[in-house]
Amino acid sequence: MKQVDYLVIGAGIAGLSAAARLARHGETLVCEAEDAPGVHSSGRSAAFAHFDMDAWLVRALTAASIALFEAPGAQPHPALFVALSGQEDALDRLEANYREWAPHVRRLSVAAAQEHVPVLRDGDGGIVGALLDLQARKLDAHALLEAHRKALVAAGGSVAAKAPVTALRHEGERWIVDTPGASYAARVVVNAAGAWADTVAQMGGIAALGITPLRRTVITFDVPINVKGWPFTKTVGPGFYIEPEGSGRLLASPMDEGESAPCDAQPEEEDVALAAWRVEEATTLTVPRLASKWAGLRSFAPDRLPVAGFDPSAPGFFWLAGQGGFGLQTSPAMALAVEALVTGGAWPEELHAVGVTPQMLAAERLRARAG
Ligand SMILES: Cc1cc2nc3c(=O)[nH]c(=O)nc-3n(C[C@H](O)[C@H](O)[C@H](O)COP(=O)(O)OP(=O)(O)OC[C@H]3O[C@@H](n4cnc5c(N)ncnc54)[C@H](O)[C@@H]3O)c2cc1C
Repeated sequence: MKQVDYLVIGAGIAGLSAAARLARHGETLVCEAEDAPGVHSSGRSAAFAHFDMDAWLVRALTAASIALFEAPGAQPHPALFVALSGQEDALDRLEANYREWAPHVRRLSVAAAQEHVPVLRDGDGGIVGALLDLQARKLDAHALLEAHRKALVAAGGSVAAKAPVTALRHEGERWIVDTPGASYAARVVVNAAGAWADTVAQMGGIAALGITPLRRTVITFDVPINVKGWPFTKTVGPGFYIEPEGSGRLLASPMDEGESAPCDAQPEEEDVALAAWRVEEATTLTVPRLASKWAGLRSFAPDRLPVAGFDPSAPGFFWLAGQGGFGLQTSPAMALAVEALVTGGAWPEELHAVGVTPQMLAAERLRARAG
């Protein structure tokens, strides 16, 4: 049986970014069920980094991460947040939240917002105000995953693809991890299985944390205007977002949250229709035949905050889960946290500087809540 120091379950952005850091400290293996990294949530994301996030902790992790991203994984790209009628208070709240981390953000009139995105409708059903962040980031999930994979391999680590973890047990000081092709003995297991995080824990006899997958739908369609350079445009409350894909295509989501079991998520027809309808309501666009559609799972802890920490009842079993709709944009900071927590290193200055502590991320907080 092969011995490793760190065995990471799941080659999404969470698992790979953490593994690349852990590989500097000991032998690291990532077991991935699929035949390549990023098949699930990480490869289906809208891949944008901004501060329109409800939780302070997520905004703080985003601020730390934005400073750490490197091209080509992240490029500056503007973000425009628009209020529909009744969302004026949400726009005020967003502006206040935003200023803590990105004071350059600017309030725009409806007319000024329309200069950036000319199809935005005003009047009935249209927008009533906007906020512009010229320094948000467009992320490239594939480039980020590949950079982490290369860093992992350069440090002597590896990814085992088509290696679903089927059983887990603690023997002595080690976790014995079974996959169909091989078994491994690991000092530490990092559970970065995304929507399957609770399932993986339960395989090892560890109580679930209540990580809940919620399905989100995306459509893309061609438009008869040049959208290159348009900002990522998102309503501040229920509504939609749109994002340019090249010059003649838009990506849109109705920001749905459909309940789902952990699975290869597929778009539901009613969510696809909702995406098209919401875009048509608030813009002058008509959504023609779709170029593509897909769905992915965003997995949340009960308090909708990310988890990075050892399970209090299972020595050597580390949770890295609950990245919800912010797993890409918080991944550099989360990977630093995992490195420090797993190896017993000093708490990173980058996290200290934004006020994030280990306790905020700990799995214990959810056990205390359940108790
Ligand atoms: C439509 C959509 C839009 C989004 N937009 C954004 C955005 O703009 N910005 C942002 O930051 N985030 C966004 N997100 C969220 C982001 O994609 C996720 O938070 C992130 O990808 C989660 O990463 P992960 O590594 O935890 O999960 P995943 O990428 O799902 O990786 C988990 C991996 O674990 C593997 N696995 C599971 N069980 C096992 C097992 N037993 N053995 C081995 N491997 C296993 C799976 O195959 C999978 O590859 C979006 C998500 C969706 C769906």
